[in-house]
Order: sequence, then C-alpha cells, then structure tokens
Amino acid sequence: MAASQSYEVVVVGAGLGGLCAALSLRQRGLRVTVVEAAAELGEIGAGIQTAPNASRILMGLGLRRKLEAVRTQPEDQVRRRWADGSIIAQLPLGQRVIDTYGAPYWHYHRADLHRILLDACVDPEGHGPIVEVLTDARVVALDRTDPRRPVVETADGRRVAGDLVLGADGIRSTVRDLAGFDDTLVFSGEMAYRALIPGDVVEADPATRFLMDRYHSTIWYGPDKHLVHYVIRGGEYLNIVAIVPCSEQIERDWSGPATGAELAQHFEEWDDRVPTLLAKAKDEDTSVWAMYRRRRDPVWVDGRVALLGDACHAMLPYQAQGASQAMEDAAVLAEELGRVPRDGIDGALARYVDRRAKHAGMVQDASLENMRFYHLPDGPEQRERDEKLRCFDGESDVSYDWLWNGSPLNDHDTESIHYQFAR
Ligand SMILES: Cc1cc2nc3c(=O)[nH]c(=O)nc-3n(C[C@H](O)[C@H](O)[C@H](O)COP(=O)(O)OP(=O)(O)OC[C@H]3O[C@@H](n4cnc5c(N)ncnc54)[C@H](O)[C@@H]3O)c2cc1C
Repeated sequence: MAASQSYEVVVVGAGLGGLCAALSLRQRGLRVTVVEAAAELGEIGAGIQTAPNASRILMGLGLRRKLEAVRTQPEDQVRRRWADGSIIAQLPLGQRVIDTYGAPYWHYHRADLHRILLDACVDPEGHGPIVEVLTDARVVALDRTDPRRPVVETADGRRVAGDLVLGADGIRSTVRDLAGFDDTLVFSGEMAYRALIPGDVVEADPATRFLMDRYHSTIWYGPDKHLVHYVIRGGEYLNIVAIVPCSEQIERDWSGPATGAELAQHFEEWDDRVPTLLAKAKDEDTSVWAMYRRRRDPVWVDGRVALLGDACHAMLPYQAQGASQAMEDAAVLAEELGRVPRDGIDGALARYVDRRAKHAGMVQDASLENMRFYHLPDGPEQRERDEKLRCFDGESDVSYDWLWNGSPLNDHDTESIHYQFAR
C-alpha cells in the first residue's frame, strides 16, 4: 500500500459501500476511520450478485483468492415466463463474462462478502488494524465549525474528526440529513421478499429439482410481480428475491418478518412450481422489505462532506447494481483523493462527482425503468418486451456491455485486468 498521503477520512457506515471505500482509500495511502452504528458488524442473511464492474473492484483490493473461496459462479442468466416457466431468453455468463469483461459475475452470501471486507481491515501480519472500525457508534451530529475539518459526533458522545467525512450510511443516511442535502427519498409501491431455501430441499422435490441442475441467475417475469433466484455457497441455498405490490404495513414499517406460506400465496396464480418452491422457505429465513429509492440527484458533496452508495443513489434492485455502484464510487473516489495532497481535496471531490454521478444516475433510471418493464401484463407490450429480451444484451436501454464495463478507472492497478480464471 502507498503511504504518501497523510490526511484522514471518516467513513460513516460499515456496509458493503463503506468498507469498500475504506479499503480503497487506505490502499491509496489515506488514513481511514469507519464509524458504524451497529454493535455487531455483519449483513443480512441473503444473497448478492456482483457483475464484472463490481468484481473487478473487489479484486483490485487484492481479495480475489478470498472471494474465490466463497463465491458461486452462475453459468447462465435465464429469463422465464410466469405462467408456465418457459424460457424467454438465456444469456451465457460463466467463462464468457470473464473472457469479455476481464472479471467474473459471481454470487455470494452477503455475510461472506462482508466478512471478507471486514477481515481485510485488519493487518494479516497481526500489526493491528489497517482501517480502524468503531462499532456501536451511531452518528447523531455533524460539527462543521472548522469547515475544513468536519467532526462526527456519536450517540455516546465520541467525536471523530477528519479532513473529509464520507456518508456511506445507507438509504436513510443521517450524514445526508445532517449536512442538509435535499430529501430525495421516493417510495416505489413495491416490496421485496427475501428468503433462503436449502439447496438439498429444492433438489429433493422432483417439481423444483430443475432449478438446481445448473447454476443460473434466473428472473421470472409476470404481471405486477417478478421473482429472482440464484444459488449461493455452492448449492447450500437457493437465494430468493420476490417483488410484489407493497402492503400498507410494510410501507409504514420498512421491513418485517414473513413466512414461506405468505410468500407462496403471492404467486399462487403462477406456474405451480413457483408456489411449490416458495413454500419451502423457512420462516426464520424469510423477510420482507419496502422498496424505496432515491431520486436521481447529482449533488453528492457539500464542502468536506461527501456521500457514497445508497446515501446518494439508492436504486431499486432491478439491475442488481446498488452495492456494485457503491463499489464503483469507492474506487473512483479513492483514485481521485489518492492523487492529491490535502489542499487538493476539494478538486478531487468535484472530479469524483463528475465521474460518478451521471453514471450512477443512469443505473438508477435503468433500474426504475425495469420496474415497468419487468411487470407488464400479458399483451402486445409484454410480447415486445420478450422479443427485446431475446435479442438484446441488456434489459432497459442500458446494455450489459455499458453496465459491466463500469466507470473507467485511470490508473487502477487491478489484478482483474489481467485476471486469468482457473479453469
Ligand atoms: C432485495 C435486494 C436485492 C439486492 N441485490 C443486489 C445485488 O444483487 N447486487 C448489488 O450490487 N446490489 C444489490 N442490492 C442493493 C444493495 O443491497 C445496496 O445498494 C447496498 O447494500 C448499499 O450499500 P451501502 O453501503 O451504501 O449501504 P448499507 O448497506 O445500507 O450500509 C449502511 C451502513 O451504515 C450504517 N449506518 C446507518 N446510519 C448510521 C449512523 N447514523 N451512524 C453510523 N452508521 C450508520 C448501517 O448500520 C449500515 O451498516 C439489493 C438490494 C435489495 C433491497
């Protein structure tokens, strides 16, 4: 790691975005403290997909071998029709993606990916933390008496100062509110069930076994709803994301527990195999989340306070790109800050926004467009959509080629550029 820079960044939030930012900044020689509200660090029990634009950045952090130990690689992306499961389109992933984009498309258990990032914050030689992570430290105030040296204050009275405060504290960002950015939160009217179903349970049933015959990333399209599933931990679980119209209670509460039976009920009109599958979800592994997003807004910086990830561009998960875009933010921000001394921070932040806000905004728009595109009722528009899916390497107007190449990095020394997959 370079160690030429001497200034300090306070990252608020130890989610996937915050930890990626912390490691990327540290890799560029900056000193970083992460301030996290949760007493125990971790991620929810659910899967996550990283397309090549994100995998490239994770590998650029030197994490390739660790990721290989926990990832599952889908061989295809499969699109199915709600009524009978017929395949609308199939796109090869696996080796094709690596050959084309120089980085893989992978699936993980979120907790595994988060753990790898967290472990990387500690020196493997045992010399202590590379990045200091403060837990049980909810930020409740921002002191900008010295505008060039902002201080975050935690609920228990700790004060942490830096040359820059980076709000990576998620869709309901406190840093965003404290710094006075516009309120851009929008409710989508939908909710997402998340569930994990043991792979052996899926395989044991002749009705659902076909879903495990090869590792796919699968999307079923239906009126007002869609269903995504993919295998994680090499077959231990089938990860489920099922999007349906939101109930009033979940809109109010944001999230809540759910049951496999309730989940299956939403899909009882679908191909019989769908409710049969969903009913296998164990209640303790099933939850439901209101789908909010942030309106596209290119204001990500105010003086020495900047935003990253869901705090500035929370998007509907209909391109599986929210965390991936946060990782792109992290790499670009680190590249810009890593090049300048302390008095160059303001310029570096302006270039960060310049290089990232339009790109992330386009992904926000494309994810929003997919809400309509995925949920069309049967009819001429749906048939046109299915035809498009058969012929176009992408979904809305954003092609996978554009999305998966990611924000161009100028001097990112990523292993993945020369990544050779162990066949
Ligand atoms: C159903 C679903 C499926 C998805 N699938 C994918 C996918 O496959 N691929 C993908 O790339 N993205 C996916 N996403 C999006 C992705 O989950 C998010 O975009 C990503 O997790 C956001 O990361 P973040 O670090 O910005 O925020 P968060 O993960 O929300 O992290 C914020 C952190 O800040 C902490 N925090 C909050 N407030 C404070 C405070 N006041 N003080 C201190 N700490 C605080 C929180 O405790 C948390 O640890 C999906 C989202 C959903 C809902």
